[in-house]
Amino acid sequence: MSTGKINVTVENIFPLIKKFLYSDHEIFLRELISNATDATSKLKHLTSIGEAKVEYGNPIIEVKIDKENKTLHIIDQGIGMSAEEVEKYINQVAFSGAEEFLEKYKDSAKDTGIIGHFGLGFYSAFMVADKVEIITKSYKDTPAAHWVCDGSPEFTMTESSKTERGTEIILHIAEDSTEFLEENKISELLRKYNKFMPIPIKFGTRQEALPQPENAPEDYKTEYTEVDNIINNPTPAWTKQPSELSDADYKKFYNELYPMQFEEPLFHIHLNVDYPFNLTGILYFPKLSGDLNIQKDKIQLYQNQVFVTDNVEGIVPEFLTMLRGVIDSPDIPLNVSRSYLQADGNVKKISNYITRKVADKLKSLFNENREDFEQKWNDIKVVIEYGMLSEAKFYEKSADFVLYPTTDEKYYTLTELKEAIKDKQTDKDGKLVVIYASNKETQHSYIEEAKAKGYEVLLLDSPIVSHLIQKLEMDNESLTFVRVDADHVDNLIRKEDTKISKLTDEEQTKLKEVLETVIPATTFTIQTEALDSNSAPFMITQPEFMRRMKEMQSTGGGMFGMGNFPEMY
Ligand code: ADP
Ligand code: MG
Repeated sequence: MSTGKINVTVENIFPLIKKFLYSDHEIFLRELISNATDATSKLKHLTSIGEAKVEYGNPIIEVKIDKENKTLHIIDQGIGMSAEEVEKYINQVAFSGAEEFLEKYKDSAKDTGIIGHFGLGFYSAFMVADKVEIITKSYKDTPAAHWVCDGSPEFTMTESSKTERGTEIILHIAEDSTEFLEENKISELLRKYNKFMPIPIKFGTRQEALPQPENAPEDYKTEYTEVDNIINNPTPAWTKQPSELSDADYKKFYNELYPMQFEEPLFHIHLNVDYPFNLTGILYFPKLSGDLNIQKDKIQLYQNQVFVTDNVEGIVPEFLTMLRGVIDSPDIPLNVSRSYLQADGNVKKISNYITRKVADKLKSLFNENREDFEQKWNDIKVVIEYGMLSEAKFYEKSADFVLYPTTDEKYYTLTELKEAIKDKQTDKDGKLVVIYASNKETQHSYIEEAKAKGYEVLLLDSPIVSHLIQKLEMDNESLTFVRVDADHVDNLIRKEDTKISKLTDEEQTKLKEVLETVIPATTFTIQTEALDSNSAPFMITQPEFMRRMKEMQSTGGGMFGMGNFPEMY
């Protein structure tokens, strides 16, 4: 037997890092701006604790394209680096200065929002550049350094004449990546990844109208001045306390998130927790109008105000992926597969927390203004019903606010409904019979008939309703649901004193005969007598269990598992 040590050298892992570190080349910009942001946040922290004796001022980060020289520049006014620090932080692949900083300033720095983590982000620059330069000067007044590397493990380091504090990264964009020299492309990336980063980011300039002087002449021509084009909002709503924000602020932020979305959200939920995990965010309930084919991937995930993804699958419970908004958490492990995510304890806690907050919010909306809640019901019921089926915790809490509307737009809670039908809608086993319609138009005559008999008819018309009914029946032994066109309803409502048909006996027999030639009497019941409403001379019904069986077959037969609604997404 022999043992040995696997020899890993920079020569063989460097190309791998460049090639496989990130599948998406465009994230290099996010990484470099994150580093510039970290450098600025670190300076802010060090000045605030008195360790850096310099003026913090109003630092910005600038992104600049130099088309002629085919370079892209990212310039910050942060802590900068001495030549030794470049050696230490840049030349040592996978050594994170961000992590070291957090370790060193443990307690005081935990809220600085430092982004870096793995000590690899910088090297993403080589995915789009064949040469990278760093020109940097530390706040500590050491000589400025100039580092140049062409993507091989060799680099050169010389002194630089840079006088201002901070770092400039220069990317010599490679031939196959010239799209990153286009203003539109960079604009798009900045909008996508950096829109809410905490340090102002300048990209070019723009014209701004000067205020009109007080006694301006009639023909006054507005004058313009050139100002920095700041592409981000460094203090987005979710970083603030709910008490600082008005309803209008929340709506404004919704428009900032979805500039192309003109419909206002129904309500919002502000998330804010720092133990046992860190998470902030704002979720919005959009108008869903029962349509399940709406686009998912509307919730954006951030880490310390850096956009990460709009695919929150595995992080947010599936039924809530229909919502919109942002979630910001440094505690979600992102460099792992989605299936691993679902097994991660922290992620499970986060998902449960979000579910609980949504349930709490719904409950408070219900309690505070029931009328308003009833009006919104149709737009939110899909999410709620889906949640009841897929999340046990949500189901438990939902009893406090779930509504069961009737075809006449009366809204019952389950408790109220039971109370309302307990004297008039029971079957031979003493069960409460909930009569419902799934389509107001096609079941119109049945609805009228049942109403004429004095029954409450619910309108349960969402696509997952048959699954929901099964669940409700399972959990409420005293309840049984029958659709308004089921023959069970007829059994229930046939009483001694029911009116007789408008037709004579002979007419009835004839009619039955005719109908039976077109409708299979084995699966349907044709009833010509004992109808109470004046509208229909006869009624065709079907046993409830028969219809359900067919429905189950057509929706895959399953019950509550998420996998049983393939037709929905
Ligand atoms: P991470 O950000 O995860 O620590 P990076 O590879 O992105 O790893 O960066 C490595 C280190 O290089 C950083 O931690 C930081 O110490 C240093 N660094 C990178 N960019 C800058 C910058 N613009 N200003 C100052 N230091 C920087
Ligand atoms: Mg980094």
